[in-house]
Amino acid sequence: MASATRWEPVIGLEVHAQLLSRSKLFCGCSAAYGAAPNTNVCPVCLGLPGALPAPNGGAVELAIRAGLALGCTVQLESRFARKNYFYPDMAKGYQISQYELPLDTDGAIEIDVDGVTRRVGIERVHLEEDAAKNLHGSGGGRTTVVDFNRAGVPLVEIVSRPDMRSAAETEAYLRKIREILMFAGVNDGNLEEGSFRCDANVSLRPVGDERLGTRTELKNINSFRFVRMAIESEIVRQEAVLAGGGAVVQETRGWNEASGTTVAMRTKEEAHDYRYFPDPDLPPLVVSEARVSAVREALPELPDARRARWQRELGLTAYDAQVLSSHPRVADYFDAAATALVSAWGEGAKPDAGKKAANFVQSEILGDVSIDGLEARFPVPAEGVAELLGLVRDGTINSKMAKDVLARMRASGRSARAVVDEGGLAQVTDAAEIERVVREVVEASPKQVDQYRAGQTKVLGYFVGQVMKATKGTANPQIVNELLRKVLS
Ligand code: ADP
Ligand code: MG
Ligand code: ZN
Repeated sequence: MASATRWEPVIGLEVHAQLLSRSKLFCGCSAAYGAAPNTNVCPVCLGLPGALPAPNGGAVELAIRAGLALGCTVQLESRFARKNYFYPDMAKGYQISQYELPLDTDGAIEIDVDGVTRRVGIERVHLEEDAAKNLHGSGGGRTTVVDFNRAGVPLVEIVSRPDMRSAAETEAYLRKIREILMFAGVNDGNLEEGSFRCDANVSLRPVGDERLGTRTELKNINSFRFVRMAIESEIVRQEAVLAGGGAVVQETRGWNEASGTTVAMRTKEEAHDYRYFPDPDLPPLVVSEARVSAVREALPELPDARRARWQRELGLTAYDAQVLSSHPRVADYFDAAATALVSAWGEGAKPDAGKKAANFVQSEILGDVSIDGLEARFPVPAEGVAELLGLVRDGTINSKMAKDVLARMRASGRSARAVVDEGGLAQVTDAAEIERVVREVVEASPKQVDQYRAGQTKVLGYFVGQVMKATKGTANPQIVNELLRKVLS
């Protein structure tokens, strides 16, 4: 009996990411999202005849930065090309993109799935302008209106090699690309607003085969979950086609959320022949070696490097490092808190400072951070966390009191030291003073004293609670415990 063919999924991704440039790619119009329709427009981005595009140096710089962050080689000379097609959102009849000579080539990133690290190649990263946006059904009934605010907004398209082998790997790749672009400060990673979006190319081939099978392209999937679900369902669909002796048709498919399946949108026969050619309005895009070096020098520390440094120098676990690098501003915040602690406690205290800052930021701060794109707002400044942890370390307050102090810092905007002084929250370590309270509590609780002496030592917790209550939480817990044992025995 012939064994059934086993199929290997092969996936390659095209990611479109909007560059964080204030103006559009070939004109001075604002690239901001959310303005009233058709207010950020001019003859260039409306595609009026005779208007001449002029490249935006800031956007080019961000595209160089994106390429370097993704391990690419930056080409000192690249070209803009016209991609010709007709669509109401493309008034010129072509999109300015890059084709044969893209800006960035041949990069790679590493992804981790189930503890296995794999490299995914990046074929190229090229600059292109976004199209306008068709708003179907708005303006009442069955009309479509076009908002040109998005026309000409600068994008990079990141084209991977067909190196992914599962939906999980693809999701990991997409998350990693988003994270790198956000840490590099070139994109805000907003899937809902469409400033970060992807198309997935999926094919199957017999396991062991080198040649690529026929692919379908899954368009416009706007969440990580849907990317994963769409690819999983597409793999199952193609397997069924092939197992039934059929052939996969090269086509574009969309994700149908309601049915949880992919559906055909257009086949290869209808596919466009874009007739790319170099844009005669734009000279070759030339960048100097010196400019590329300057961008490389100024590249922020990327997430993998940061996590590795935290694990190596601050003794963080891989898990803690992952959580604390969930957003570039969170990573900056943790770094600032840890740095302030190390400078206060000395180099030798690095692992202690790292662990304390990591625990505190995760348990007390992260739940109250509000994130908006690349921005984040924190309940208290990172230096405040360092100051607070300093007060715990030198015994001014105990760690339980630290939460109370934090809440007061948040409400008042004042420093940890000021809050402790004004609230009389400093820890009492004077044994004589604590012993006085301990004796009062013991005298007031004869029943519990009998229980304790009869061997029910867990009532000690009751006594500790009473003493802490009487001292408003300021008594040093260790001294309280010692004195209670002494007085009770
Ligand atoms: P196009 O722009 O027409 O979609 P590209 O050559 O730019 O074509 O390829 C786009 C993406 O498709 C790349 O990420 C590439 O890795 C991926 N790809 C190409 N062929 C296959 C295939 N047979 N199976 C899976 N992915 C593929
Ligand atoms: Mg494609
Ligand atoms: Zn314009």
